[in-house]
Amino acid sequence: MNPGGTVSAGLDGRRALVLGVANQRSIAWGIAEKLAAAGARLGFTYQGEKLKDWVQPLVASAKGEFLVPCDVSSDSDVAALFRHVREAWGGLDILVHSIAFAKREDLEGEYLRTSRDGFLLAQEVSAYSLTRLCQEAAPLMSAGGAIVALTYLGGERVVPGYNVMGVAKASLEMSVRYLAADLGPRGIRVNAISAGPVKTLAARGVSGFTQILEIVEKKAPLRRNVALEEIGAAACFLLSGAAGAITGEVLHVDCGFHVLGM
Ligand code: NAD
Repeated sequence: MNPGGTVSAGLDGRRALVLGVANQRSIAWGIAEKLAAAGARLGFTYQGEKLKDWVQPLVASAKGEFLVPCDVSSDSDVAALFRHVREAWGGLDILVHSIAFAKREDLEGEYLRTSRDGFLLAQEVSAYSLTRLCQEAAPLMSAGGAIVALTYLGGERVVPGYNVMGVAKASLEMSVRYLAADLGPRGIRVNAISAGPVKTLAARGVSGFTQILEIVEKKAPLRRNVALEEIGAAACFLLSGAAGAITGEVLHVDCGFHVLGM
């Protein structure tokens, strides 16, 4: 044990499975690049053939060791993914969950109008998937491990337009705490990063997203928006030995915006 070791301590040679790369703007990609720079071994997933063409060259540039299709709402996809991980690596050290989805019509207007289908879909893909992935990942983390998920302030406070996704993020953040409690005795840490707004494919689905970026730039204590690289660096910290005593935490990486009352 090396309490308080260097930021990337323990990442060199670690086997990291990254879910959620859609393109080079994805937060998952920002994290993968930093993990690669710290010497981690990387495996990736993609969702649907349409995204494969975007993801494949990125995986190659990060010297990713495999790229496997996985829709997290499919139990058979998830099981097949971890069979692949077991065959390729024999175990796993790091899991990055950078996935969310809600119907476009549920990301505008009043939350009140959310349909049953839309609510359940957002919960399944954006929140339950972390639990399902942990069920498969934990047995592979026999020497301990670290897991990071991505959340947003809209899971703690009302952010207009974020609606059903905010409710799913609240569920995800609480899942992080319960999973941290369950997996801590096995030496597996589970944390989340609450990232400030970043212009990505998923973010484009939230109505008024450009306005959110402008408000953060004007009002956040640091008077700017967060850079993808900064989220990647924070994730590396949480996934490294330097964060060895941190679990069940939601770390805000948002230029301080979350501290504001008005
Ligand atoms: P993104 O569109 O680049 O990534 C979202 C990913 O989720 C995509 O790769 C997509 O394929 C995947 N996905 C959606 N449904 C899936 C399914 N059923 N199975 C497997 N994968 C599925 O957008 P992003 O902003 O990088 O989002 C990554 C995470 O970061 C999400 O959890 C998002 O809520 C969170 N986040 C984003 C912001 C932001 O402003 N962009 C801020 C805070 C948190």
